[in-house]
Order: sequence, then C-alpha cells, then structure tokens
Amino acid sequence: MRVDYLIVGQGVAGSLLSYFLLQAGKSVLVVDDGHKHAASITSLGLINPVIGLRLNKAWRAETLLPFARQTYRELEQKFNTKFYRDLNSLRLFIDDKQQKRWQKKKDAPELQPYIGSDIEGEPCKGQIANPHGGVEITGSASIDTAVFVDAFRAYLIGQNALRAGSFSCDDMQIEADCVHWQDVEAGKVIFCDGWQITLNRYFDWLPMSPDKGESIDIEIPGLGLDKILNRGFFMAPTGGDRYRLGATHNHSTFDNVPTDAGKAELLKKIEGIVPKPVRVLAHQAGVRPSSPDRKPILGLHPQHSQLGVFNGLGSKGYSQAPYFARQFADFLLSTGELDAEVRINRFQIDSAQLH
Ligand SMILES: Cc1cc2nc3c(=O)[nH]c(=O)nc-3n(C[C@H](O)[C@H](O)[C@H](O)COP(=O)(O)OP(=O)(O)OC[C@H]3O[C@@H](n4cnc5c(N)ncnc54)[C@H](O)[C@@H]3O)c2cc1C
Repeated sequence: MRVDYLIVGQGVAGSLLSYFLLQAGKSVLVVDDGHKHAASITSLGLINPVIGLRLNKAWRAETLLPFARQTYRELEQKFNTKFYRDLNSLRLFIDDKQQKRWQKKKDAPELQPYIGSDIEGEPCKGQIANPHGGVEITGSASIDTAVFVDAFRAYLIGQNALRAGSFSCDDMQIEADCVHWQDVEAGKVIFCDGWQITLNRYFDWLPMSPDKGESIDIEIPGLGLDKILNRGFFMAPTGGDRYRLGATHNHSTFDNVPTDAGKAELLKKIEGIVPKPVRVLAHQAGVRPSSPDRKPILGLHPQHSQLGVFNGLGSKGYSQAPYFARQFADFLLSTGELDAEVRINRFQIDSAQLH
C-alpha cells in the first residue's frame, strides 16, 4: 500500500497530527504497539494557564489553550464522545511564601484573564485543609485521556488508517523520495513515538530529558470536589467520588512500571489536606517526553527529509499538541512555517554522528 504519511505512535501527538493530515485529504497510516509506552494514557490530561510554584502564565497560553479547546470540542462532536471538560482550578498556596509571592504577582497583566476569586475558607464544606489561602484559576480544563485515546483509535480504524504493531527502524528502507516499511510505501515517516525517540537511531541525538511520572486513581467518599485541586499536586475529579491524583517525577528510571514508592509519595502529598478514607483504585506510570527547553520538537531529519519528528511535549502534551500538530501539518503540506522556538534545528549535531 502507498500512503503520504506513516506515523509511528498513537499518543496525543500522533493522533492529532494524523487528524489534521487526514482533514487535508492526505493518506495516513498510524502504527502503534498497543500503547505499550503511552504517556498519553497515564496522563492526568490537565490544561493549565497558570503553572508552577512561581504561578507563571503557561507559555503561549493565550494561543494554545483556545486552540486546544476548539480542537477537542470539534473532535468530541465528530466522535460523538465526551472527553473534554472546562474545569476551574482551586490553587491553594503551599505556604506563606507562596501566598506572599502571589500578592506581588496577582496584578500582572498576563495573568488577569485567568484569575478568579480568592479562596479563604476550607473548600468542599470544610473538608479540604487550606491554612494559607488560595485563588481560583479560570480557563483550565481536564481531558479524560483513556476516552480520548480510545475514541481516536476507533476513528483511525474507521478510516482504515491504523495498524497495530511495533515499528522498527531496522525494517525501514529509505529511498530518494519515499520510505519502504513492510508492505507500505510512505512519502514520509513521522515519529510521534514519545520518549521512545531516545532509542530511535535516527533521532537519538536529540537532547531529550525523559521524566517518568506516576498517577493514581482514588476514591474519597463524600468529598464532592468538582474542580481541579492544585496544591503541589493535582487532583482532578473523574466522576462520582473518584479522582485522578498526580504526579511524581523521576529523571533516572524510564519504564511504565508503577512503584510502591511512587504510590506512597502521592498519598503523602494529600495527607492532612483531604479527608480519609482514601481508597486507591488504580495506579499507572508513564514517561513524559520532555525536551531540555520544555518546548515541543518539530521538523525533519537534517539528512533524510523523508523522516520527521513531532515530540518533546513534556508535561504539557494535552495543551500543546493541538496547536503544534496543526502547525506541523501545515508545514508538511507547504502551507505554513514552523515557529523558530519549536524547530528541530535549534539542536545542533555533528553530521558525522548522524544516521
Ligand atoms: C503521570 C503523568 C501525568 C501527566 N499529566 C499531564 C497533564 O496533566 N497534562 C498534560 O498536558 N500532560 C501531562 N502529561 C504529559 C503528557 O502525557 C505527554 O506530554 C503526552 O502524552 C506525550 O504524548 P506523545 O504522543 O508524544 O507520546 P506517548 O503518549 O508516549 O505516545 C507514543 C505512542 O507511541 C507508541 N510507540 C512508541 N514507539 C513505538 C514503535 N516503535 N512502534 C509502535 N508504537 C510505538 C507508544 O506505545 C505510544 O502509544 C503527563 C504525563 C505523565 C507520565
């Protein structure tokens, strides 16, 4: 079979890139190994305009978040499924220092679109401890990641555009203007393989900083939290008395194995903040495909223009992927340029080291 684009990986990156290419009338085949390594499923799927301990506006929030919202809403309609929820966040300060920092920052013009009311009491009818106060952040959202990935998979199957299996570069022949793999001739192969790009011999020179993360699904009877709770951890309502809690960071072990230490760390974060009992329902781990400057990585291989990459989504895959998948699709279709900040060529490599 002949396709314009063979996409390796059906996480949020590969899903959205394939969508925009299919929308443009291109033929696409997505190869995925059954989400063996998908951070996109482990993810909390949160979209936040105000981030980090320093309460900064997320990079390009004013552009990326509205585009993400519009894209996810469009996909929900197309798939006749719900996975996107606008959900304000309760940003509770972790100490007096953070509270004072906020007093200095809260008049910053770039934060104004996202500032809701102050939180002085204890949320959820006094059940959530709040000794340092907080602020409600507007414009945040949550994605049901398993529903999103499953719905996309079904869509691709319906388009005859998904093949289950593992892609190995050893089985790929690069020709002058195409690539052969198994029975497929593809105009280009685009790697959306998440942190596994570090094992990909055509792109292993990219200075990735993978970051393993764990999350747990918990049940807290009667809490009634209907917003995202952010207090040095994230806890997002997933229905009824259930919440997804995350996340840990580990920069030295890269696998998708949930650990007792990860679970204990997460439960410790909420101890004394939310009421007991807390029942753990599920526990998962994945690896964030982070880049050193925390920006996505898009573009073609410096020597083989038949190979491309859409990666580096780090801890913000669900907010950044829609906009940059669209931008990459436009670039591949020669109808748009890549922003300098996300181009692969910001990383230099000695050509002697390239495959
Ligand atoms: C615990 C945790 C919490 C997170 N929370 C958030 C959050 O709240 N908000 C947010 O925006 N982001 C969050 N993230 C980050 C987000 O999940 C990632 O940025 C995003 O999922 C990366 O998507 P991706 O498509 O690049 O990679 P992945 O989701 O990893 O997808 C890659 C896919 O390619 C497949 N694959 C790889 N190699 C091959 C091969 N050779 N052949 C076939 N298939 C292959 C993999 O199995 C996988 O299915 C979190 C991540 C973790 C781990």
